[in-house]
Amino acid sequence: MNNYEKIAELLFPNITKTPEYYEKKYAKRNLPEGAKVTRFAPSPTGYVHMGSLLTCFYDYIIAKQSHGVFFLRIEDTDLERTIDHGVEGIVEDLASFDIHADEGVDENLQSYGNYAPYIQTQRQEIYLTYAKDLVRKGLAYPCFCTKEELQAIRQKQEENKEVQIGYYGEYATCRNLTPEEVEQNLKAGKPFVIRFKSPAKVGDRVHFYDVLRGEQEMADNVNDVVIIKSKSLLPPYNFAHAIDDHLMGTTTVIRSNEWLNSVPEHMQLFRALGFDQPEYCHVAFVQRFDQETGQKRKISKRKDPETAVSYMVKAGYPTDSVMEYLYTIANTNFEEWRIANPNANREEFLITLEKMSLSGALFDLDKFNDVSKNVISKMSAEKVYELVLQWAKTYDVEWAEILEKHREFAIKMFAIDRYNQKPRKDIVKWEDTKNLYGYFFDELFDGQYEMEENMHLEDLKDIFDRYLEHFDDQVDNSQWFEMVKSIGCDLGYCPQIKEYKKNPDQYKGHCGTVCTYIRIALTGRKNTPDLFSICKLFGKEKMRQRMQAFLAKIK
Ligand code: GLU
Repeated sequence: MNNYEKIAELLFPNITKTPEYYEKKYAKRNLPEGAKVTRFAPSPTGYVHMGSLLTCFYDYIIAKQSHGVFFLRIEDTDLERTIDHGVEGIVEDLASFDIHADEGVDENLQSYGNYAPYIQTQRQEIYLTYAKDLVRKGLAYPCFCTKEELQAIRQKQEENKEVQIGYYGEYATCRNLTPEEVEQNLKAGKPFVIRFKSPAKVGDRVHFYDVLRGEQEMADNVNDVVIIKSKSLLPPYNFAHAIDDHLMGTTTVIRSNEWLNSVPEHMQLFRALGFDQPEYCHVAFVQRFDQETGQKRKISKRKDPETAVSYMVKAGYPTDSVMEYLYTIANTNFEEWRIANPNANREEFLITLEKMSLSGALFDLDKFNDVSKNVISKMSAEKVYELVLQWAKTYDVEWAEILEKHREFAIKMFAIDRYNQKPRKDIVKWEDTKNLYGYFFDELFDGQYEMEENMHLEDLKDIFDRYLEHFDDQVDNSQWFEMVKSIGCDLGYCPQIKEYKKNPDQYKGHCGTVCTYIRIALTGRKNTPDLFSICKLFGKEKMRQRMQAFLAKIK
């Protein structure tokens, strides 16, 4: 046994497997040419927001388009930052938007797929096996330096005016510990980390290719970075990334920009471990215009609660809207395509990594809402009904009960103005529906009325009586309107708006005024979907009741 092998045994006597074992266990994927293997690898340290959702969307879509594999991996090795129910939150959030990973972690937190487990804290033995192997080969070593010692090294570097501050070269005092020293330290119970011996020296440069950013050149990493942390004996991101993405066969790593500068370090690790490098695509943070400064800035948890996936779910943005919006911000040319193909299935559009925004996609709530309105306006009334109901069962039980009780009525209600050439675009999210449509139901109609100025209240009873008398739900829209006009005409309301505008003093109002009175009596509002449709849906009896209630109220 050489010294390195002795140190490896001293450190990890219980690690008996070898990298070959895992290479065999996790066999290479057998996929068609060009298939991409991508992964969404969140840390359960906070909420999933528009930014992480967009990254996840790229992963999902790039795998899907290439007939590859998309998997979910939970990166929870930073125990201090892991939050309670963080993993459940991630799994739930993805499920709410119908993003199902081919492999990963289910709602019971069980891993599924050939490369399981997909939760990093459950892969410790694998990481330690590879770390031990690096130590055996003299490519990594234990470091027992205390905080104070590290601080002292730093101070010395500053005194020496080193351009590079860190644990490297001559300063890396634990690089050359003998097996005896290691043994002594271990016996003394000193905590240690495992560091990777950087092969680079100050001044070295490296080149690599980023799918979105093209050729990159930057300083190589000279620090002996930690690959196994003390206490938990888990790896930080760098080492877990190398091992997992290798064993799990990732072809394309799509991740946030913040990792761009770590690529040199990651490349060194891949090389030392004998792994092929996956391709990288570093995505800029999602941006937003700050309300106060008007400047673009990164979206933030505190300032932008509406970018949290959980908020979107709670507010009832349909999956379809979120997906359509993700397409919109994912590729700069999607909007143009959508205008040219308003009714096409968006899956016909090819998302490419090259067409991402370099500076970061822009989250714009108004735009998101517009997209959602459009998407909802194209759904069938039955679909809207089903989706609102499903949402309301969790978030508004009263609304759900009413909708369930009046199923047929509610579907007809959602059908009003839906199949027109220009469908009504009033619903942004399911949360809005109770406010927009609640008055259709007696259980929710609150008897509050928006009033028109200069209403001729004395005419109302007459108008309503005549209207109910002549109302016929079998006629068409124009016949119905003629009927309204003639009622108005008898009572001094001008049948032509143009004519009325010429001589307003000669009339009490015009035919539109008559409609407004009926509308207010039936709905309490001046603005509603098509009045004739509402009347047909209500039927004479319900109209009569609403009109009577209105008359009683204004007496
Ligand atoms: N856990 C890392 C993060 O949340 C993942 C980065 C990656 O996708 O590789 O930033």
